[in-house]
Amino acid sequence: MLTREEIIKLLSDEENQDKLFAHADDVRKKNVGDEVHLRALIEFSNICRNNCLYCGIRKGNTAVKRYRMSENELIDTAKSAVAMGFKTIVLQSGEDLWFSKDKMCRIIENIKKLNVALTLSIGERNYDDYKAFRESGADRYLMRIETTDKNLYHKLDPLMSWQRRYECLLALKELGYELGSGIMVGLPGQTIESIADDLLFLKDLGVDMAGIGPFIAHPQTPLANADSGNLYLSLRTMAIMRILLPDINIPATTAMESLRPNGRIMALKAGANVVMPNVTFGEYRRLYELYPNKACVNDTPLHCRSCIEMKINAIGRKIGTDFGSHKK
Ligand code: SAH
Repeated sequence: MLTREEIIKLLSDEENQDKLFAHADDVRKKNVGDEVHLRALIEFSNICRNNCLYCGIRKGNTAVKRYRMSENELIDTAKSAVAMGFKTIVLQSGEDLWFSKDKMCRIIENIKKLNVALTLSIGERNYDDYKAFRESGADRYLMRIETTDKNLYHKLDPLMSWQRRYECLLALKELGYELGSGIMVGLPGQTIESIADDLLFLKDLGVDMAGIGPFIAHPQTPLANADSGNLYLSLRTMAIMRILLPDINIPATTAMESLRPNGRIMALKAGANVVMPNVTFGEYRRLYELYPNKACVNDTPLHCRSCIEMKINAIGRKIGTDFGSHKK
């Protein structure tokens, strides 16, 4: 097992990164095989009560046009994703409490009738809500810790508490969700040492999935002039995650693709085994702008689906045919 010092060294070592990527690819192949699991991502509301400095849909961004899908639009989007062959639906939004416990439970029950795995990524809610969502059939929950540097966290998420987010993750785990978490790489003020701590945190937490993506500066946020994260450092972070937790699910993130066309394919060759194509339709797609130049934002869901399938096949991998749950 890697020590903190070894992780720091690997994170910093640009020269030998190809060896790291090849090793992570090997670990991926041995532990989770060649299947790439697709998750259909539905971005159903860009309304958010939080004000995270990095995020394009932060409450304080008055320039963004806000939307929320109706329950019918949401269910219809899920149905069309299932018709395209997706086995997992991911519902993501800002922290929009208009989607009350009861509304969410109804949506979850309707989507679960489609015989798919269901992931929620709607941020912090109370224990009762998490419990009710689980009882309605939600299988997985995705909530990044973003950074384990608590000072940095509180600087970047002024209305939020690191401890509270951590306790949400513990509650979700206790309730039997398959738990996804993760971080952004290249946040202003983030150190290599703290990224090493993040990786060890995710290992200790025993996540079932870890999403790692570069921070990308958004022009309508207080971090407009900050440097964006580096693709290669993000890939090294992800590759080390694969070595630390050999059998978990690791997505090739959209943020990687947004920094460089084919960023996701680079990730799939460096430890990743999951892709989350966006199936949000029409204008909503453009309005869920967490960061600028988001990959595939002008494409249709169907185009994205066949495009990624072609690319996956071209590197000798195949699309997963089951739910793609974490196999321990
Ligand atoms: N409200 C939900 C979903 C957040 S959006 C929640 O709190 O979990 C999903 C992820 O996008 C965030 O967790 C964050 O890691 C990432 N993100 C937000 N702004 C970003 C930016 N400017 N660059 C890169 N990733 C960003």
